[in-house]
This record gives sequence, structure tokens and C-alpha cells, in this order.
Amino acid sequence: MGLEEKLPSGVLLTTVEGLAGYMRKAAFWPATFGLACCAIEMMTSGGPKYDLGRFGMEVFRASPRQADLMIVAGRVSQKMAPVLRQIYDQMAEPKWVLAMGVCASSGGMFNNYAIVQGVDHVVPVDMYLPGCPPRPEMLIDAILKLHDQVQHGKLGANRTAQIRDLEAEGLIA
Ligand code: SF4
Repeated sequence: MGLEEKLPSGVLLTTVEGLAGYMRKAAFWPATFGLACCAIEMMTSGGPKYDLGRFGMEVFRASPRQADLMIVAGRVSQKMAPVLRQIYDQMAEPKWVLAMGVCASSGGMFNNYAIVQGVDHVVPVDMYLPGCPPRPEMLIDAILKLHDQVQHGKLGANRTAQIRDLEAEGLIA
């Protein structure tokens, strides 16, 4: 049965939270931020073959102030960690982080002093995507799963407060 048959009066009810979630996920702009080989797959996702634009995400923003999502595409060096954190702090609430690939998620095969052993030591992560590198289809699948979180997120959820708690517990630096 079609939606119009279910709604003969043509009235659709929802909540403000549901509407905000729908609008947020429909214009979910990523920050332009690639770190290593995974970034090549991320860029491919935005090209004509995989076409992230189908999901309202064709505009990778050069300014963190205009971005909703940080895709950490590649290994994070200790030197880059403060820069990554600064970019994250400059993104406006609400904001989300996707760790793309095994290096961003856990350091991967780079178990050494130069590489952060998981970007969740620096910023809170909403979605971990395994693979080396994950293919564009996998990235799109992870983003669509993140869309579900965005759709059902609470209005007013504040990441800054969450970070303060994680820092107080010593879970991120
Ligand atoms: Fe490169 Fe693989 Fe690490 Fe991605 S997960 S940054 S492809 S080594």
C-alpha cells in the first residue's frame, strides 16, 4: 500500500526531533581532510561512479565551520594529532566522526611510536570502518549506517560536554 493510501487526509505527523534528524542526514557535509592512502578511496566515493552526492554529501567543505562529519581517512601521526583535534574543535555542534580504515581505527600495522593507536585517543568516534583500505562501497555503507544515528539522535546532544567527560576520565588527550 502506498503512502498516499495510508494517509488519505494528506497530513503527516512527526516530531521536531525527527524532522531535524531527517534534515541533518539529508545535508551531511564532510570536512575535506585526508591523511593517507584511505583518502584516495574517500575521494573516489565522491566521484561519478559512486556518487556520494546521491545522499546530499557532494560538497566536501574546506572550512570545518561548515562541516558536519569528519572522515579520518588514514593513519594519524603524533604530529598531526593536535591539528586533527583543532579542526574537530572548530566544527560546529552537532558533529560526527568516522574512523576510516584500520589505521585510523586502531593504528593498524603501524604499531610504533610515531602513529596514534586509534583516533579515538584524540576525538570521540561514532563509526569505525575496518579494511585496508575500505572500498568506496564500504565507506558509503558506513555513512548510511551513520545516517541512522543522525536521524535518531537527540536534539541538543552536546559533543563538547562529552569530550570534557572523556578528558576527565583520561580516555582522550
Ligand atoms: Fe593506508 Fe591501509 Fe592504513 Fe588506509 S588502512 S591508511 S589504506 S595502510
